[in-house]
Amino acid sequence: MHPPTPLRVAIVGSGPSAFYTAEALQKALGEAVRTDLFDRLPVPFGLVRGGVAPDHQNIKAVTKVYERIALHPGFRFLGNVQLGRDLQVQDLATHYHQIVYAFGCESGQRLDVPGRDLLSVHTATEFVGWYNGHPDHRHRRFDLAHAQHVAIVGNGNVAMDVARILLADPECLASTDVADHALAALRGSQVREVTLLGRRGPAQAAFSPKEIEEIAELPDVDVVVDPAEAALEPLSAAWLERDGARSQQRNVKFLQERAAAGATGRKKQLRCRFLVAPQQLRGRAGCVDTVVVQRMRLEADAQGTPRPVPTDTTETLAADLVFAAIGYQGVPVPGVPHEPKQGIVPNREGRVLDRVAGSELPGQYAVGWCKRGPTGLIGTNSLDAKATVAAMLADRQAGRLLAPQHSAIDALLAQRRVDVVTWADWQRLDAHEQAEGKRRGKLRHKVVDPEEALALVRRLRDSAASG
Ligand code: NAP
Repeated sequence: MHPPTPLRVAIVGSGPSAFYTAEALQKALGEAVRTDLFDRLPVPFGLVRGGVAPDHQNIKAVTKVYERIALHPGFRFLGNVQLGRDLQVQDLATHYHQIVYAFGCESGQRLDVPGRDLLSVHTATEFVGWYNGHPDHRHRRFDLAHAQHVAIVGNGNVAMDVARILLADPECLASTDVADHALAALRGSQVREVTLLGRRGPAQAAFSPKEIEEIAELPDVDVVVDPAEAALEPLSAAWLERDGARSQQRNVKFLQERAAAGATGRKKQLRCRFLVAPQQLRGRAGCVDTVVVQRMRLEADAQGTPRPVPTDTTETLAADLVFAAIGYQGVPVPGVPHEPKQGIVPNREGRVLDRVAGSELPGQYAVGWCKRGPTGLIGTNSLDAKATVAAMLADRQAGRLLAPQHSAIDALLAQRRVDVVTWADWQRLDAHEQAEGKRRGKLRHKVVDPEEALALVRRLRDSAASG
């Protein structure tokens, strides 16, 4: 039996892993593949638009690569279409030979300590979505006008993004695509001190060296490290020597240099604390004002990796605002198997399983964060997508495909009155956002209200049609 031509593939999501999947399929099959990328939002690019910080435009420029992938004749974008609301998995199975889940991990892990429900305790995901104008987070409020001390739990790159946005001069963001509401709030911010709480030591910090170095280069900010916490205990020193990546060695060197240098009296401070984890959040009138932190020590696990173990020592720390930057968390999507612990789609090398360690569901695949969990940089998703596509191509060759009875999903979506945002619609919206940004002296003025975006898409579509 010959493989079907063209191969029709539905990709759910339009972030990096979705585009890299489309690209790998295009490279392997040329014009013999059709890829439809669905997104519940009326705009593409997932975390590149809604997650990457606005002062990191060099990273956001990766969308130029995705625009080239979208030029392929078999590529389509179907925005404003939500799986579980507008379409069910069964609908995709009756229209496509293969389905790829590329919907990432959409929420943030919450702290698991008493007091986590106090006001002014947030996930970093909420704050990141807010300053990026993500529709899910645009309504959030962060009381920056009254917060002087901020605590961020976690030692990864998201913690660094949040710290930098809080400490940098907001005027550096003014010419970017930052959401207007966020720029206004940041301009009125009273934040003077941000404390990062790492539960392990400097050698195990998960941030990239250039992220902390970037903060140290901010003109008004001192990076402050207690020399006692910057010093490595014997377990970490041996681990770093044996297993440490170059980036971890660079982090340790940098942090020890900062510890030796001490504060220079700049008006804002980033305090990097190590071997501390929140034990409890306390507050007044429902609002957080104190973090009780517990001192940790490190103990080697079976593989020799230093893991944090609580001690009996605690201390208190003033904080008017607390962010949990302890990782993203996948949310279940109706009809798609979900593994709640990691928040991923259970899979074996990209092939979706009906449950953890269960049976393969033919024709269904996962890529990116919903496949492997919320780790890695944008480029990591390219290799990851290639691996899933290799499995898809092998299954196509072996005839292990879905058996679609229909070819065009458009009729079904029209029947359900879904106003699909096409790639041409997005290109017009994109041009509008950039033109509006230029008028305001910034790179882009994001339309953050999805209803407003849809109304604008319709208007631009009509005026394009009337020539
Ligand atoms: P991450 O890199 O996994 O870091 C999570 C941090 O939270 C770690 O320091 C972890 O400590 C800590 N943590 C986890 N659970 C904790 C708990 N219960 N209590 C205290 N601390 C806890 O996650 P992320 O920062 O969300 O970033 C996600 C991915 O996106 C990463 O791969 C990151 O590099 C990438 N990213 C990259 C950029 C960039 O390149 N500019 C920007 C943003 C994000 P342990 O190590 O002890 O577990």
